[in-house]
Amino acid sequence: MPNIPQEVVDPDYRFFELAGDHYACGYAVGKATELRQLPAAEDPQRALRFARACADVVREIYPPLLDEYRGYADAQGRPWKEVLPHFSLNHPSGEAGGCSSLVWRSADGHVMVTRNYDFLSSQRSRHLLYAGPASALATLGTNASLIGGRYDGVNQAGFFAALHLVQAEMPARLSPGLPFHLVPRILLETCTTVRQAVALLLDLPVLHAFNYLLADDEDFAVVEAHPSAKRVRKGDGWLAVTNHFQHPDMQRFHGRRTQAHSRRRAARLEELARRPEEPAWKWAQGVLRDHETPLCHHDRVMATLWAVVADLTAQRIAYCQGAPCQGAFVELAWPAKEPPATRVQNGWPAAGATS
Ligand SMILES: [Zn+2]
Repeated sequence: MPNIPQEVVDPDYRFFELAGDHYACGYAVGKATELRQLPAAEDPQRALRFARACADVVREIYPPLLDEYRGYADAQGRPWKEVLPHFSLNHPSGEAGGCSSLVWRSADGHVMVTRNYDFLSSQRSRHLLYAGPASALATLGTNASLIGGRYDGVNQAGFFAALHLVQAEMPARLSPGLPFHLVPRILLETCTTVRQAVALLLDLPVLHAFNYLLADDEDFAVVEAHPSAKRVRKGDGWLAVTNHFQHPDMQRFHGRRTQAHSRRRAARLEELARRPEEPAWKWAQGVLRDHETPLCHHDRVMATLWAVVADLTAQRIAYCQGAPCQGAFVELAWPAKEPPATRVQNGWPAAGATS
């Protein structure tokens, strides 16, 4: 066993079951969490105006999320303007990110996904949420304390979505749009297929540069998204997604960045995808434990904050709290209906149902 560095933070892993409508979901999360501090805006008045314009975009595209923000603000007794920046995130850029995902078709034809979510070790909030408002598809997925966000997850129809930060050049003037964390949320609550999600995402105005991996029980695609352009990438048997754009038309947005680490991880995933092993469910978990590239991080700066494997054809999903070389993958119930009551549990569901 190599000498593995350890994270130093005191992480906040919790599992939320959220009953009721979007307002109730926001209220329950607001009551149990603290508002995540965003990078300070250079010009606070201008930032607030921009955030308000982005809130208007969300209202046009998916109004239930406004109710969720309202519930969150009410639970903390905050005026609206204090949660408004969570619609634009004060547009941070230049943060490190290292998510690695692979989607592939296994020998028996199942669509499989395996993914590590990597970010700064200092990001304490690591929440797993199960919600099913009456107006939306039920979802199971993760968030890091950005109001209304989902970083990866599945919905009751068998659709999967996940985000990957891309460091990119930004236009000098940005039009109001959707912050990155609301994109998977909207797709998961409204789309049942990749085809539908690709069509919707191509129409959404976005504020940030991200790769969005989309998969269902038959199909998969990556939408490479930047405020100025979007491209769709498809693969026959597999697709690897990390933190750079792979579509030729999108290369110009990288500027002078080499994206070397992201390219190394993508190359490693590609190498693995060319000789997948069976059983796919077990192999999916092993892929994420790689320390050579590495795909699995846990040092004082970067860490794999969680990992997920899913068999979308069989509707099986398992999350791992923390780095996959150290924690256990725990299989969870596929989201199917509204949870019976709002409940917040310290730690993610523990092993016992481990597979
Ligand atoms: Zn590890």
